[in-house]
Amino acid sequence: MKKIQMVDLKSQYKDIKEEVNQSIQEILENSTFINGPQVHSFQKNLEKYLGVKHVIPCANGTDALQIAMMGLGLKPGDEVITADFTFAATVEVIGLLQLTPVLVDVDPKTFNISVEAIKKAITPKTKAIVPVHLFGQVADMEEILKIAEEHNLYVIEDNAQGIGGSYTFSDGKKVKTGAMGHVSATSFFPSKNLGCYGDGGAIFTNDDELAHIIRGIVNHGMYERYHHDVIGVNSRLDSIQAAVLNVKLPQLDSYNTRRRSAANQYSEALKNHPNVITPVIQGDDDSHVFHQYTLRIVNADRNGLMAHLQSKEIPCAIYYPIPLHKQKAYLDSRYKEADFPVTNQLVQEVLSLPMHSELEPDQIKFITDEIKSFLG
Ligand SMILES: *Cc1c(COP(=O)(O)O)cnc(C)c1O
Repeated sequence: MKKIQMVDLKSQYKDIKEEVNQSIQEILENSTFINGPQVHSFQKNLEKYLGVKHVIPCANGTDALQIAMMGLGLKPGDEVITADFTFAATVEVIGLLQLTPVLVDVDPKTFNISVEAIKKAITPKTKAIVPVHLFGQVADMEEILKIAEEHNLYVIEDNAQGIGGSYTFSDGKKVKTGAMGHVSATSFFPSKNLGCYGDGGAIFTNDDELAHIIRGIVNHGMYERYHHDVIGVNSRLDSIQAAVLNVKLPQLDSYNTRRRSAANQYSEALKNHPNVITPVIQGDDDSHVFHQYTLRIVNADRNGLMAHLQSKEIPCAIYYPIPLHKQKAYLDSRYKEADFPVTNQLVQEVLSLPMHSELEPDQIKFITDEIKSFLG
């Protein structure tokens, strides 16, 4: 059996090595490191893949979130609702822009932002909702978009973990994640479902005017050379990263299919265990792209199980160990523990197993056998 990795980028690289090396070599020969033709072609390829009018590449997913919020013209004091159970980048940029983060609880089945909790958190100051497609599962977008419309709020999708997934609306219409909100942000960090070989990110929108504003913001607020109309940032996807992404984008659906089939094998092996809750897929198959495969370990020693797996050289991790509302940087006297029963419980129970496109059936069998042997 091959050594088990949490994420196996080395094996994935082997399959695309020649194409990747050749396109990087080309950039080295031409020295077109910034704004090379690869960046524009990746932008076009991704627009086509997602079915979205505008992709604006940038330096990383955190920048993408920040720039999306700057583009919408959110002002200090505006309230932005997001999930208590997610990676900190989402709430970090809200704070950096001096907007007011409003963290709310999540759904215990999907781990995604709770629609009921959003409704309760809306005030006259609320300006936007940021759903995160956590672990690769699309959030309840139909309901979220409906609430947003009723209250005249922006929806900013954090699609860093959900790229390639789709959401099916009740009228049968199917839309890719990242193409539903007013604006969306994604990350091409190496371990994401579509990852480059360094840092990268992008903003998506169907709004022509917003796209124009954002294209200026990523480039120092310039709309005409050396005319700075607004305060912007410097946030670029470099040509080498775009070249890698151009090789990997055509593989994304097959990568995600392989993740899903690994997830199925895990769930099949663990489904009836009394101490294990396997991930729920809320919608169609492609509504979950399994950025992470995350179990809940209930009425059992989750930390002991983790130590046992690690002693067998099975990597695993807790995403995320501390709710954001308890993080020092984001403490707020308005939060009450009674408002976060689900997040507070999930941080005690979740355990993420190795998940990537190169997992092999014998590895998954070994992992699930070890889980069952520990839990009894
Ligand atoms: C990875 C991630 C980000 C940030 O992306 P970076 O490219 O690392 O800045 C934001 N939100 C979520 C949910 C993420 O998983």
